[in-house]
Amino acid sequence: MKARRTDTGMGKNAKKGSAARGDVPVPHYGEDVFSQEAMLRHLPAESARKLLATINDGLPLDPSIAEDVARGMKEWAISKGATHFTHWFQPLTGGTAEKHEAFAEPCGTAQAVARFSGRNLIGGEADASSFPSGGLRSTFEARGYTAWDPTSPAFIKRHENGATLCIPTVFCSYTGAALDTKTPLLRSVQAVSRATVRLMEMFGRPKAHVAITLGAEQEYFLVDRSFYEKRPDLLQTGRTVFGAAPAKHQQLDDHYYGAIRPRILKFMTEAEERLWRLGIPAKTRHNEVAPAQFELAPMFEDINLAADHNMLIMETLRIAAEANGFVCLLHEKPFDGVNGSGKHCNWSISYGGRNLLSPGESPRDNAIFLTFLSAVVRAVDLHADLLRASVAGAGNDRRLGGNEAPPAIISVFLGDELTAVMKEIETGRAEKKTGRTAMKIGVDTLPPIPRDTTDRNRTSPFAFTGNKFEFRAPGSSQNCASSQTVLNTIVAESIDAICDKLEAAGGDFNEELQKLLQRLIRKHKRILFSGDGYGPDWQAEAQRRGLPNLPTALDAIEALADPANVALFARYGVYSEGESASRREIAAEDYRSRTTIEGKVALEIARSMIRPVVADEFSRLAAAIATAAKDSIKVGVKGLRALVLKLGAGLDDLHVKCERLEKALRKDDPRGTIAAARDLRSTVDALEGLVDDSRWPLPKYREMLFIY
Ligand code: ADP
Ligand code: MG
Repeated sequence: MKARRTDTGMGKNAKKGSAARGDVPVPHYGEDVFSQEAMLRHLPAESARKLLATINDGLPLDPSIAEDVARGMKEWAISKGATHFTHWFQPLTGGTAEKHEAFAEPCGTAQAVARFSGRNLIGGEADASSFPSGGLRSTFEARGYTAWDPTSPAFIKRHENGATLCIPTVFCSYTGAALDTKTPLLRSVQAVSRATVRLMEMFGRPKAHVAITLGAEQEYFLVDRSFYEKRPDLLQTGRTVFGAAPAKHQQLDDHYYGAIRPRILKFMTEAEERLWRLGIPAKTRHNEVAPAQFELAPMFEDINLAADHNMLIMETLRIAAEANGFVCLLHEKPFDGVNGSGKHCNWSISYGGRNLLSPGESPRDNAIFLTFLSAVVRAVDLHADLLRASVAGAGNDRRLGGNEAPPAIISVFLGDELTAVMKEIETGRAEKKTGRTAMKIGVDTLPPIPRDTTDRNRTSPFAFTGNKFEFRAPGSSQNCASSQTVLNTIVAESIDAICDKLEAAGGDFNEELQKLLQRLIRKHKRILFSGDGYGPDWQAEAQRRGLPNLPTALDAIEALADPANVALFARYGVYSEGESASRREIAAEDYRSRTTIEGKVALEIARSMIRPVVADEFSRLAAAIATAAKDSIKVGVKGLRALVLKLGAGLDDLHVKCERLEKALRKDDPRGTIAAARDLRSTVDALEGLVDDSRWPLPKYREMLFIY
């Protein structure tokens, strides 16, 4: 996918592509976005110009235009049928939040007018006491504040009876501490932008606008609503806590890229129509590996916008699913035994519109490319623990390290060509098989880097894919902002470290750079891995290399308590010390809550749905055996008796395991709860195969995954 687009109200990106002859506009695209076009139509020219300068070039917002913008925005929103407005933000719940306010204000007797002021636009106050704050909000100061983010355009959310104007905002406490995901993301973008400009100036490039780009591929499952409603586990936890694997699931690889069934296509089309109206560049759709699993990928955008858009994509998928009799499951592992869902975050840096991770044509461009590439490699090696922590969660724990998901060990895949180039730089010698002379930075050009899909290593959690890095560890339900904030920050630190070294060196720039990259590669090459990330050998190899392997979220989030990491975030103004501590606390609490809920749901289903059915089955068979004995029937009894014995043993087992789970829940120990729930599951899943199919109380995998 190329970054070409037409001017359709995608904020920052609107200026990049322009319509060419023969292009046909997509109907309704961006219609519900306060786009560049809408701004020009509804704002005085000077105010529109100032606002666009903030959006497109990152200039500070001139507060004097707020009244004009509010007036124009209101006029536009009302023309779209909006009756209410809301600040739209992303608290630390993992979701989005909104509190609607009517435009209507009473005026005279039994009359009202629609009002929306500059103050309404710029800031809001919300009761923050019920949002997670991780101790940042003292109890006596429960207020939270929302503040307009002009770089993500306002949009309209429609419902059957009207519409609401949504204004993307940041959310913070009264002391200014971030209570959301957007604030640190914006701070981290600033950090990496500043560092990028610094390095580019050392390359003699004039100052230009830095854009961090993100394209987030979204995986999800669909299940028929009628099945969903009969599964208390899906309803309450988003995943199935029980369910035996069906004979056929994904072994035949017949779902991936398969023909999309009409009912699914109808859903997808509806979701895309909604997304396009919101100016969200939904681009590709396809069947994923697991049955009933699908993917939607948008075209990449400025990272702040892309992160907002991903939240809207998840919401839209849910709404469109509901309208089509489905439920969209965004949990990382809704079904055991088949693939889980991720959110591959494709990330790059562009400078004045040029992608810095795209190998260039001139030696100079290549020097820039290799330097930024090395900066990322260094960042990932030094801060793999933080990247791992950034994707930690109860849901993702069930996916990472599974035999189909990237392992919990973070490594970088560069592909054969680039690995060879890195080796040449490191050793100063030509690689035999390439038949070249050793790469001289600033003098040589790179060999062509193949971008074909065959070269891809799907098992790598952090892969260079031709002109961007693809971070594959983030989970399908997670807000992109968390992992991207970390990535931006650690790359900023790496770029700065390179600048520091180059500044200190003095000498010939290219020679110093060559020496520096050589040292960097030597030091950080342990993070490079091209092999099979799913294989058991990798675990041992990674351990030899000293790479962290943190399979559970609870271990992973400890990285946020490491003083060096806390200092890093503080130095870049991304998280204050208190904010780092609060994120860790919130993550731990979230993990604990989810684990407890899952445990309780499993216990309830096992005791109140499974046990009665198994007991019934047991007594029916026992009665049949008794009748047979009474009537002196000798045949068939052996089989019945064997089955009754199995059911009886199963009931005993069920009892013991329920007690154990209950005990673990009482202890409030997430690890114990997970282990006890897993144990209980194996008993229930075995019983599933013993009980009369028509009596089993839960829809089975073979139904949920295949009937739609
Ligand atoms: P692939 O086939 O490697 O997955 P695609 O070109 O289909 O590659 O892109 C996958 C995702 O990566 C898309 O969302 C796309 O917009 C995004 N992407 C492409 N180029 C960039 C870039 N420079 N920065 C960020 N994301 C990008
Ligand atoms: Mg991909």
